[in-house]
Amino acid sequence: MDKIKMITPLVEMDGDEMTRIIWKMIKDILLLPYIDLKTEYYDLGLEYRNETNDQVTVDSAEATKKYGVAVKCATITPNAARMTEYNLKEMWKSPNGTIRAILDGTVFRAPILVKGITPYIPTWTKPICIARHAYGDVYKNSEMIVKKGSKAELCVTDENGNESRELIFDFKNSDGIIQGMHNLESSISSFARACMNYALDQKLDLWFATKDTISKKYDHTFKDIFAEIYENEYKEKFEAAGIEYFYTLIDDAVARVIRSNGGYIWACKNYDGDVMSDMIATAYGSLAMMTSVLVSPQGIYEYEAAHGTVQRHYYKHLKGEETSTNSVATLFAWTGALRKRGELDNTPALCDFADKLEKATINTIESGIMTGDLYLLSTLENKTKVNTEDFLKAVNVKLQELL
Ligand code: NAP
Ligand code: MG
Repeated sequence: MDKIKMITPLVEMDGDEMTRIIWKMIKDILLLPYIDLKTEYYDLGLEYRNETNDQVTVDSAEATKKYGVAVKCATITPNAARMTEYNLKEMWKSPNGTIRAILDGTVFRAPILVKGITPYIPTWTKPICIARHAYGDVYKNSEMIVKKGSKAELCVTDENGNESRELIFDFKNSDGIIQGMHNLESSISSFARACMNYALDQKLDLWFATKDTISKKYDHTFKDIFAEIYENEYKEKFEAAGIEYFYTLIDDAVARVIRSNGGYIWACKNYDGDVMSDMIATAYGSLAMMTSVLVSPQGIYEYEAAHGTVQRHYYKHLKGEETSTNSVATLFAWTGALRKRGELDNTPALCDFADKLEKATINTIESGIMTGDLYLLSTLENKTKVNTEDFLKAVNVKLQELL
């Protein structure tokens, strides 16, 4: 069989620990035998980030802007313990944060569903894809403890030095607390466009919700910006694609999500997305089955797994012990990126390969071959727990049946 040709390279961002081991196995077992793989390689492993003063992260994001599609391995976000472990020059920032800031993107997370792993909400037969607005609100706030007898006001000084004031609260009878937060028109607009582009890309309805009845300026502005961008730029495209934009109050949205069958994108304000994405991930069963894609308003895509570097398994691996780490989300990051590259380059063979590799992965698990995390959850009667590498080899067997 001839290997599948690629026209434009993928930006490949390698990473850390167990996921770095899995990364190489996926390439060796499932990609290189079938594809004439073209990538521009960036080593985002912590050692090389430290060596380059994190320049490699910036370079990889710039390359993503240039080529349009990247695939990323999970990476360590350094903390105090990592400073010593890797003898770091600085506590380098989260690569995901750096890349997201450069691409101005929105992260979409969706679960991979397989027979035998039933969501805690059994009516969720289709994935719920969560989009979190990752800028501002309570994550960039200012807070103060206020003493009894104080009066707190919001005060805005315009460029000419004129002040406008709004009373927050007069703390006559008690000590208290206050919080100030902001968001940007530009950031909310980018978020809205990223969500609407992704809804078109995936042919899925888009839901958005805020508390605009209570927050008549702050949350209402989110609602208005979404509505205006939808009316002016997306309404016709959505109608042509047969999908819907649906706005409701956040509490109504939560109630509807629980009653739904899934199969839509749920755009969330920053805090809602933080909370709801953990709830959705847990409800679908396993973090190791959660994919993640960063989409910029210009239509640049960066695919990865939602989980981290699976440190505990890596230390076992280093001791020479067998691991049974789930590679599915990392594998789907590759298939997502290859399919998108195929779409952009108009190389259907690449898209077809990505589809078949995903199908082979799901078939493998549904035939009862799975890693330890899924083995604990699966309700299949005949199931076998396999190690990290044997799982990928089993997927390869199924893949060959499909090719
Ligand atoms: P983690 O890597 O997501 O793993 C937490 C636990 O979840 C694991 O110990 C394991 O549970 C289970 N798990 C996660 N992924 C799994 C998989 N693929 N297969 C089987 N089990 C899986 O989170 P962490 O250990 O808290 O973080 C490790 C490092 O990852 C940190 O340095 C953090 O900075 C980084 N991180 C990176 C990203 C990213 O790059 N996007 C995201 C999150 C965290 P058991 O131990 O019970 O088997
Ligand atoms: Mg959270």
